Amino acid sequence: MKFTDFNLKESIQQAVTEAGFTEPSPVQQEAIPLVLDGHDMIAQAQTGTGKTAAFGLPIMSMMEADGSVEGLVIVPTRELAMQVSDELYRFGQKSGLKTATVYGGTAYGKQIDRIKQASIVVATPGRLQDLLESGKIKISPKFVVLDEADEMLDMGFLDEIKNIFKFMPKDRQTLMFSATMPKAIRKLAEEILEDPKTVSI
Ligand code: AMP
Repeated sequence: MKFTDFNLKESIQQAVTEAGFTEPSPVQQEAIPLVLDGHDMIAQAQTGTGKTAAFGLPIMSMMEADGSVEGLVIVPTRELAMQVSDELYRFGQKSGLKTATVYGGTAYGKQIDRIKQASIVVATPGRLQDLLESGKIKISPKFVVLDEADEMLDMGFLDEIKNIFKFMPKDRQTLMFSATMPKAIRKLAEEILEDPKTVSI
């Protein structure tokens, strides 16, 4: 299988080629067509399996770069936020899709400015909840991704995640990635996903 089999938009396909990706990884082979078809999805995948591109490529392919925040990716840690942002920036650059990275322990001003310019926000739960509840930012993303969801619950972020979803539009596509599928994850999936497809690799 090749990336060109997916029908990603030209500028995204070009970025994939330039990144030197030739063959889609197993999670990418399963997830990309489902996401492009508009489904909600829950995917069981470990780090290092290519999960960032598995959600990033199809959602970016469907974005319009219209100056609004079209995608939100929620991740457990600052390190992962930076890593995911870097990867998405690389794929989105040619399509005019800017990324903002949002995490706690640092000043608000610059992050808020970046969010106002961004198509994709990659954020940790605490700071994101804070920005939304204080009204410092208003976003209405079409695509919402929870990355390493089990890790976020282990870190005690369930309340933050639920609060964040109160600010998300009903009319959205939601994707959830988790290395493990304990009961708490399946319960959260029931609450935030609509008729999801399941991917397990
Ligand atoms: P991830 O699991 O998203 O953290 O990705 C792990 C690493 O694999 C990252 O450095 C990606 O850039 C790289 N990668 C992801 N998909 C592919 C692919 N299809 N071919 C080659 N490298 C890839």
